[in-house]
This record gives sequence, C-alpha cells and structure tokens, in this order.
Amino acid sequence: MSTSPVRVRFAPSPTGMFHVGGARSALYNWAVARQAGGRFVLRVEDTDTARNRPEWTEGIISALAAIGINASDPAFEGPYFQSQNAARHRKAALELYAAGRAYYCDCTREQVKERTGSEHLGYDGFCRERGLLFAEGRALRFQTPDEGETLVVDLIRGKPTFPNNAIEDFVIARGDGSPVFLLANVVDDLDEGITHVIRGEEHLSNTPKQQLLWEALAGTAPVWAHLPVIVNEKRQKLSKRRDKVALEDYLAEGYLPEAMVNYLMLLGWGPGDDQEIMPYAEMERLFRIEDVNSSSAFFDVKKLTAFNGEYIRALPAEEFIAACEPWLAAPYAPWRPESFDASVFAQAAPLAQTRLALLSEITAYVDFLFLDEQIFDEASWAKAMKPGAAELLCEVREAYGSAAWRADDLKDVLAAVGERHGLKLGKAQAPVRVAVTGRTVGLPLFESLELLGRERTLERLDAALRRLAEA
Ligand code: GLU
Repeated sequence: MSTSPVRVRFAPSPTGMFHVGGARSALYNWAVARQAGGRFVLRVEDTDTARNRPEWTEGIISALAAIGINASDPAFEGPYFQSQNAARHRKAALELYAAGRAYYCDCTREQVKERTGSEHLGYDGFCRERGLLFAEGRALRFQTPDEGETLVVDLIRGKPTFPNNAIEDFVIARGDGSPVFLLANVVDDLDEGITHVIRGEEHLSNTPKQQLLWEALAGTAPVWAHLPVIVNEKRQKLSKRRDKVALEDYLAEGYLPEAMVNYLMLLGWGPGDDQEIMPYAEMERLFRIEDVNSSSAFFDVKKLTAFNGEYIRALPAEEFIAACEPWLAAPYAPWRPESFDASVFAQAAPLAQTRLALLSEITAYVDFLFLDEQIFDEASWAKAMKPGAAELLCEVREAYGSAAWRADDLKDVLAAVGERHGLKLGKAQAPVRVAVTGRTVGLPLFESLELLGRERTLERLDAALRRLAEA
C-alpha cells in the first residue's frame, strides 16, 4: 500500500491562450491523479508580471473545465498562485545560503566570458570562496557538487544521469533578491506536497538542477515524467507563431471537447490493440504514465478532424442539435434571427449530422433554409448550369407546381424530367440543387426541398430561370 498519496500538479504560466500541449499535460496529470485516488493541483505560475494577464488565467480554468478537468471534482485542488508564495521562495533562497549551499556572486557576464573564454561554458565558480555578503546587484548561486552525478528518476525516460561537474553553479535569486523560476517552481512543489512532476520535455534540462534543489531543501525528490514534444507535419515543434495551438481556437471552430480529449490522450500514448476512439473514462482506467512514448508526437489535424466527425456522428440527435446552437446565431449565421425556424432545423439536423467534420460547417449546410434571399455562388452556378439547364428547370418548375410535396415524389418527378432530357438523376439534380440551395454540394436534395416548402422552392426556380434568361 502506498504511504504517500499521489499528488500531481499542472503548472501553467498564464502568458497566452491554452496550448494543446498544455492540455495534454493536464490530461495525463488528471488521469494519474484520479486513478490513484490522489490530487491534481492547479498552480498558476504567474510571477512573470510583464507577460501575465488575468484573462489568460481565466481562460486556462475554463479550458480545463471544457476538457473535463473540473474545479468541482474532488480530485481537483487549487488554483494556487505562485506569486502568493513569494515570501517562501525568498526564505528558501536564504535557507540555502545559511546552510552554505549557496553563495553571493558579483561577476558580470563579460567577466565570466573573459575568464572562461566562452559564453557557453557556464559559470566558473569564481565567487565560491569569496564569502561575499548580500548587496544589491549580487546574485545568489547554488553551489553544485563537483563530483558524482545527479540521477533523475523519470518514468518515461528511465534514469537519465547528469555528471555534476557539467552542472554550473546556477542562479537561484537575482541581484534584486528575487528568486528565479527554477527555485520558485521547486519550492511550490515542495509546499504543495507534490509526488510526481509530469510536464513537457522542454523542462528536462532544468531537471538535474531542480533535483539538486529538492535534495538540498528537503532531502528527497519527486518522481519525474517528461512528456514527448508535440510536432507539426514538418516535424517542427508546435509553436504559436506557426501553428494553430490554442485549445480555445479548436473548440471555437467546432471541435467537440470529447474528440479533442480523445485525440490529445493519444499524443504519446495509446490504449493498445490499435484502438483509438475511446471515451476518456475508459482511457483513464487504462492509462499508465510509464507507457508514454519518449519520441515526439505528431499533431495531425486531419486525424483530429476525422475523430471529430466520428464523435459528431455518435451524438444523440438532441445533443447534436444543442451542440450546433452557437453556429446558428450571430456572428456565424448569415440569416436574420427571425427567419430561423427551430423545428425546420431539427428536421434538417439528422441529414447534416452524418456529413459534418466540424460543427462550424453546419451553417453552410442549412443557410438556404433560413436566408430570405437566394444564395448565388458563381463557381457552383458555372458548373451546374450547362446548356439545356434552362429547359430542364422550366419543366421541373412546371411539374413541381402541382406535385405532392414529399421527398420521394419530388425525386420521381425530377427523375422523369431528367429522363426526357437523357440525363441520369444525379446529373439532373445539379441545376435544381444550385438554383435552390446555391451550391453543388449539400444535404440530400429532395429532403431539402421538402423542408424548404413548395412556395420558396418555386420562387428560387423562377429566379434561376430569370438569371439564365438574362445571360
Ligand atoms: N510554468 C511552466 C510552464 O508553463 C511549467 C513548469 C513545470 O511544469 O514545472 O511551462
């Protein structure tokens, strides 16, 4: 039986939108905490006041909730704010000084470079024995051991070891006395009783230093796990300058949170048996941090989109309708709000549900039902209105004037007209579809006509005939 309950943390810096890589780290931490009956601590690392904004913090909290990491869940603890622990960070720095583990240093970068002959060798330990006291401008450096090695227990990477003589005496507090991130991060982990640090690979280079700080401050160390870097199709690290990385942006485009969660869980891990589509609850049961791969994970937007389509198709009808709601109003919907008819939409929804990869696509599928004016798309028009289209549309208009207004009958009528023109049904549909819906692709035509109603269908056929006559 474990004596110390698992306590993990997710420690974002609120300097921007919520990165999909952050979301993956959060989900893995969440799975580890919940499996073990432990705690997931949210710690906002908000000490970089120049780059932090309160709305980013709110964004993180609501994006976490969107992917199921809910502040009301008993496994959730926090949020804590790093800035509120500043006194403890200072105290820890002074403790290390008092214990002889850290010393003050007044060397400038230029001086170090001059002595070592390089910018890249790190600090040379010049002030180690000088016994300098604190004074404005003097940095506090942690004195690293000269011999031996620092072993890091990493559940994903095994036991990487770092020779101590390659770890420079690093700064833990700046010349103005303010502790650096490296130290604040460790002190908070200690204060919050963190047992497992599960985070992105970009922090791996800090780990030996942080391990030394843990040992110096508490005589112990956490278990580490550094998650593989996420790359784009060119195998470049996903970056907010190049790639779409904000979870919020994906959600706003109509990716379902459940599909995002499923996809994010697979960035470095899989449940085995080639199974990929799986609800989070089941993945949580199967997830093992030890099984996470250390090689980089490709963020494949096409695959994510295909997942999303599957999740959309699996939604119960009512939920699909509810999920579409944001895209049926301003600023997405081009129709007047009073022209929208919820019962017509409810009938169109099942026809659209099988065709969408993104929820945001719904608007273009149903706009012809709610727009007062005719939709005209130049390219679709040119493609569909071949010679003979006017004659065909004229006959269809005539027959639709008296046909029974049901999809099957409307189809039979068009099939018969098409036959007279030597056209298969598919070909005969094209000009009718473009005349009525504006586009060459869309919902099944005859159901669409049935929903649109006779009066409006005839109006649009007439308008198309007028346009053809003018051409
Ligand atoms: N605040 C750091 C970041 O957002 C996280 C550091 C950590 O997880 O230890 O990259």
